[in-house]
Amino acid sequence: THHSQGSLPRLAQEQQIPSARSVAKRPGRILVTGGAGFLGSHVCEALLRNGEEVVCLDDFSTGTRANLAHLEGHRGFRLLQGDVAAPVTAEVEAAQVDAIYNLACPASPAQYQADPIRTLKTCVFGAATMLEFARSRGAAILQASTSEVYGDPQVHPQPEHYVGHVNPIGPRACYDEGKRCAETLFFDYRRQHGLSVKVARIFNCYGPRLRPGDGRVVSTFIVQALLGQPITIHGDGRQTRSFCYVSDLVTGLLALMRTPDAVTGPMNLGNPAEIPVAELAEMVVRLTGSRSRPVFLKAAVDDPRQRRPDITQARQVLGWAPSVPLEEGLLRTIAYFDRVLAGGEGAAAG
Ligand code: NAD
Ligand code: UDP
Repeated sequence: THHSQGSLPRLAQEQQIPSARSVAKRPGRILVTGGAGFLGSHVCEALLRNGEEVVCLDDFSTGTRANLAHLEGHRGFRLLQGDVAAPVTAEVEAAQVDAIYNLACPASPAQYQADPIRTLKTCVFGAATMLEFARSRGAAILQASTSEVYGDPQVHPQPEHYVGHVNPIGPRACYDEGKRCAETLFFDYRRQHGLSVKVARIFNCYGPRLRPGDGRVVSTFIVQALLGQPITIHGDGRQTRSFCYVSDLVTGLLALMRTPDAVTGPMNLGNPAEIPVAELAEMVVRLTGSRSRPVFLKAAVDDPRQRRPDITQARQVLGWAPSVPLEEGLLRTIAYFDRVLAGGEGAAAG
C-alpha cells in the first residue's frame, strides 16, 4: 500500500540506528560507585528505570542516603557503604556485577580541596581498584572524568584531542591531575588488558540533589537568592562555564556505556551553551524573583577563565545532544531547593 511504502525508509532508519550506535544488552547488574551523590543518584534511578539491577557503593563523604531514599525499597537496588579506593570487599565481589560506573569522587572545588590528599587517592586508587575489579569480572567500566582535565584552556571550545593546560602543583591539581591519571589508567588497561573502557569528560552539570552548602556555583547562587543573601561572585564574573541539566547528562552517560567495545572516548558530555558567571547570577536572581545583589569576592586560584565543550563526537557517535535549556533547568533546580529549604526534601546543608 501507499502507506507501507511511505513508511519504509523511516523504518529502515529506525532499525539501523540501534545496531550501528549501541550494543543491545540484556539487563544486567551494575555497580555505581559514588551513587549517593548528585549525579550518581540520577544514574542509579535511570538504570533501575531501564530494568537493570543496581549496586551502589558510597562512603557518604559528599553524598547522602537521602539522595537514594526513594530507591531503597526497590527490589533491584542495593546500597553498600565503603571506600572506592580500598580493596574490594567480599560483599561487592559477591554482587557479580557486569558493568561499572565509576563516579566516586567529590566534584565541588570546595569539597575536593578540603582534603586534597584524600581526593587524589580517591581518583587514582579508586580507578586502579575498580579497573582491576572490572578486569577480574570481564566487566565494562565507565569513568566519570571531567572538563577539568583541560585545566585553564587555551583552546576554545575544548575538543577531546586538546591535551589541556593544568597546573600540576596548584590547589585544583588534586582533582585535575587525579582525574588525568585515572584516564591514563583507563587507557593503559585498555591497551594492556583489552578491557572495555568508556571515558566521559563531563562539563559542569546541575540539577536537583545538588547540595546546599556544597560551594558549587549553581547551588550556591540559588540558595543565596532564595534566602535573600548577597550572591557571591568570585573574581570579575566574566569567567564562563557551560551548564548541562542532569537528565541530559545521564542520558549521555548511559548511551556511552551502551556503545560497542571499540568506542572508548574520551568523550565530552555537556551543554555547549556558554554563560559568564555574572550573567548566571542575574538569571538566578530573576528566576527566583529575589532581591539579592551580587558581591564581588577574590577570584579562586587557577580558576579556568572559559569553558565550553565541543560535543561533535557525542553527536556523531551517540546521536546525543542536550535538550534542556538553562532557564528551564534552573527553574526545576530552584523548585527543588525551595522544597529542601522548606525542610521537605533531600539532604540538609553541610
Ligand atoms: P558528588 O560529590 O555529589 O558525588 C560524589 C559521590 O562520591 C558522593 O556520594 C560521595 O559520598 C562519593 N565518594 C567520594 N569519595 C568516595 C570514596 N573514596 N569512596 C566511595 N565514595 C566516595 O559529585 P557529583 O557531581 O555527583 O560527581 C560525580 C562524579 O562525576 C565525580 O567523579 C565527578 O568528578 C564527576 N563530574 C561531575 C561533574 C558535575 O558537574 N557534577 C563534572 C565533571 C565530573
Ligand atoms: N563561583 C562563584 N561564586 C561561588 C561559587 C563559584 O563565582 O559562590 C565561580 C567559580 O569561581 C567558577 C564558576 O563559578 O568560576 C564555577 O564554579 P564551580 O565551583 O561551580 O565549578 P568549577 O570551577 O569546577 O567549574
